Amino acid sequence: MKKNHKPFSIIGPCSAETEEQVLETAALIQQSNLPIDVFRAGIWKPRTRPGNFEGVGKKGLKWLQQVKATYGWKLATEVASAQQVEDALNAGIDVLWIGARTATNPFSVQEVAAALKGTSESVWIKNPVNPDLDLWIGALERIAQETDGEVGLIHRGFSIFRASEYRNHPTWQIPIEMRRRYPDMPMLLDPSHMAGKRALIPKLMQLGVDLDYDGWMVEVHCQPEKAWSDAAQQFKPKDLSEIIENIAWKQKSKINQGGESLLEQYRQHLDLIDEEFFNLLNRRMSISEEIGQLKHQNQLTILQTERVQETLKKWIALGASRGLSKEFIQKLFEAVHLESIEHQGKKLH
Ligand code: PEP
Ligand code: MN
Repeated sequence: MKKNHKPFSIIGPCSAETEEQVLETAALIQQSNLPIDVFRAGIWKPRTRPGNFEGVGKKGLKWLQQVKATYGWKLATEVASAQQVEDALNAGIDVLWIGARTATNPFSVQEVAAALKGTSESVWIKNPVNPDLDLWIGALERIAQETDGEVGLIHRGFSIFRASEYRNHPTWQIPIEMRRRYPDMPMLLDPSHMAGKRALIPKLMQLGVDLDYDGWMVEVHCQPEKAWSDAAQQFKPKDLSEIIENIAWKQKSKINQGGESLLEQYRQHLDLIDEEFFNLLNRRMSISEEIGQLKHQNQLTILQTERVQETLKKWIALGASRGLSKEFIQKLFEAVHLESIEHQGKKLH
């Protein structure tokens, strides 16, 4: 996103709840001068657990049509089945998105793809919940094969086993690799579902600009605290407008990018990778501490030479398959192993 290229903005409530809530949210977006290209609202809501609000269904499409008739914005909603595609397109929805849960399931993606055959509405594919690059690529291929409309990607973060401050961990290396493989495919950031809470969203939006995303999908609600879904992550439109005003825009466009800003982008990528690298080291050391305790309870020595030799051999093979020299791996192993021994002893004192 750059100063001379305004972010493509899909803005609106998580869910369409009532006619009043949809129209009031749209009116507040208009009043707060929020930049908006497409108005979003979930009509069918995939919920992790049954019993949560599962969307108002078809009747909500009429409320969206009113928004389009009043403000002229394009409309977007999530689709997960052939029937939903048909209902959405019959109601004049211009933009469809495949949700993160649907993107994990090739059967569902295929069903949606088949229903999109020969249609020209644009389709955005969220990353699947699992941090699996191929699964995302598979969903993209299935949809792109069938639709005649534009296709794009939305990075909304991933479910990971370890703790994360985010509702859905960014795992930046996946979208970065996706962009390397599909450099012409637009990619939006969804900071709302990534963060899960308002406080983390501004920082993510700035990062989206710094990392040159093409735009964003952000949730707003007329009364966020009373929202029927995702209450903790939705903004009042005027609050989102203020956040956007405080964004520091990049100066140069992708086309005539000078060496300097490209360098800056690469450095930001490196910083993100380093952060992941340290998270992993931290996890590794915590496991070492647990192992230290176990060894102590079973009266085993901390240093077990055979295991050390075996691990080093595995490291060298892993390193070689990733283009890393044996000398480097040996030094790295020595440093990590020493630190690990320290951690193994840590919980015993
Ligand atoms: C949504 O956009 O409302 C949604 C359910 O998102 P996701 O599929 O990313 O969880
Ligand atoms: Mn939501």
